[in-house]
Amino acid sequence: MYIGRLNIKNEKVSLDKLEYSSQFNDIWKTEHDIKTQWGNRIFCFAHLIGYPITSFLYYFNHNPVFLTILKIQLLASAIIAGLLFFHFYKKAPSRVIAFYTFLTIIVFHSLILATIPHTSYDRASFNMTLALIFITFILCWPPKESIICTVMVLLLFPAALYFLSPDSLLQFIREGGFFLFLGQFLFPFVMNVKYSNDKRAFYYRYSLREKNELLEEQIKISQEATKAKTDFLSMMSHEIRTPLNGIVGIVHLLLKEDLRSDFQKEMIQTLLFSSNHLMTVVNDIMDFNKINSNYVKLEVKPFNPALFFKSLEKTFIPKADEKNLNLIFEIADSLPPQLISDEGRLNQVITNLIHNAIKFTEKGEVKFSVKEQDRQDNSIKLLFHITDTGIGIPEDKQSVIFDLFTQAHTSGDRQYGGSGLGLAISKEILRLFGSDIQLSSVQGEGSDFSFEIDFNYSMLPIIKSYPVKDLPLSLYPDCKVLVVDDNYTNLLLATTLLKRKSIYFETAENGKEAYDKYKASQDYDLILMDLKMPVMDGFEATNLIRAEGSTVPIVALTASTFEDEKERALSNGFTGYLVKPFLPLDFYEMVYTHLDKKTIEK
Ligand code: ADP
Repeated sequence: MYIGRLNIKNEKVSLDKLEYSSQFNDIWKTEHDIKTQWGNRIFCFAHLIGYPITSFLYYFNHNPVFLTILKIQLLASAIIAGLLFFHFYKKAPSRVIAFYTFLTIIVFHSLILATIPHTSYDRASFNMTLALIFITFILCWPPKESIICTVMVLLLFPAALYFLSPDSLLQFIREGGFFLFLGQFLFPFVMNVKYSNDKRAFYYRYSLREKNELLEEQIKISQEATKAKTDFLSMMSHEIRTPLNGIVGIVHLLLKEDLRSDFQKEMIQTLLFSSNHLMTVVNDIMDFNKINSNYVKLEVKPFNPALFFKSLEKTFIPKADEKNLNLIFEIADSLPPQLISDEGRLNQVITNLIHNAIKFTEKGEVKFSVKEQDRQDNSIKLLFHITDTGIGIPEDKQSVIFDLFTQAHTSGDRQYGGSGLGLAISKEILRLFGSDIQLSSVQGEGSDFSFEIDFNYSMLPIIKSYPVKDLPLSLYPDCKVLVVDDNYTNLLLATTLLKRKSIYFETAENGKEAYDKYKASQDYDLILMDLKMPVMDGFEATNLIRAEGSTVPIVALTASTFEDEKERALSNGFTGYLVKPFLPLDFYEMVYTHLDKKTIEK
């Protein structure tokens, strides 16, 4: 089962070769108009007011041409006012208005230059250059408009001055006009740089937003797909586990019967082997799916590493002896007395790797080593190696054996058995530990699997160990159990198991019947309640029983392995939880635990 990663196309766009789509150009036009609106308006207002004000310089210099200049400039301002009217009331675009304002100024100023002789052009050209710098800052135009304005200035101003007198033109150029013309010549280039930079920046923002939207859409699709997959697996798990529980349980019961012939015994043994294998595969798939869908969180508890590795070693000694393999456990002496982590999941990974090492090794040794890599105040980094001298893994298979259902020795694997799930699960579990698995292997010489884990630790010894509960052999003559299940086989299984221990029971086929029975007698010591049932499910029935103020232990029997279902059950009045398919030993342990408590209370 592989959840595909989102594959976002990584487009590389050369900055100089951006090709904007026509759709983008339309959006950019609107965006640009909005963005430059205030620059254009300020430009128009500055000329509406500022242009006539310049005539007062002539007034203060007692220049008699003051009135003539003022009249021309007021006329220009009137036209600009008209343009602004069009902008504000008729919604004409600000860029168009600013463009016509610029043209108006050019025309009227050419008129002034053509008609008013100046003794000196110093101040006039300085003012015009300042104005040009100002508008270069506040305007951001596409090249076309700025080129038209520049061509107009470079044609009309010299023509007007020449019209006044050829000397005036030369004088103007000498007295600062050169810099004005140079500035005006550069104006379209500056505008072009500003405009294309803005456009490019907008393009990146726009395409980023588009990609974000696409990403969000894909995330939504993948979340929906993950949910659909999880729902499907949860449903399938229930559908598979329910009958499987019946099969596994009944096979165990049959084994205890006096079977008539060896053939029957052999058949039942085969059935037991197949059903156990199927149960392991179903459990592994569910486990992988749970971890892969992030339904699993590590259970962080302190444990004694020395004891943990010792008991691991003990587990594998018989298997290694059976194959005449040298099993070596090399554990660092310096380990702290307490590691704080998920002992169960760590055990699952190491067990799987050592199990494989023994399985795929015919002679030589299997070595498990734990080394301390680094130690801080609270955390310790341990390096784990599982090495064997077995058949090894071909190089081309080394990257795929961590995928689900992948086996490296396709023909030989049948001889070794297995389903190709163990490594995929181990890798997923190590991901939860924030680690990854490394493999080095030479075909025919052996393999080495390794990983590092950071553990929190404590130097205090663990005082309390967890004693393994011995199953009591006593019977419970005064106890009464209610078994609620709509599936006949599972009902038969649970009741047969109870009958074997002479525990009195009654049955109900759905939540409603269970509730009615509870109300009628009220003296059950334990209720075993299936969750999914017709008429009334286990949740509702438990709610009703709890609403009566009852404290009777109610254990959920369910085929779902999802933690949220477990949490939901425990927070809805259930006392415990037993996942189907269960083995008789698990069943008795759970039943005895509750009946023991009851018997002590009685
Ligand atoms: P399974 O062992 O159930 O087939 P795993 O996921 O644990 O599934 O392993 C996948 C495959 O990787 C195995 O079938 C085997 O081909 C290869 N493999 C794993 N461990 C070893 C090993 N120690 N030596 C050789 N091959 C191995």
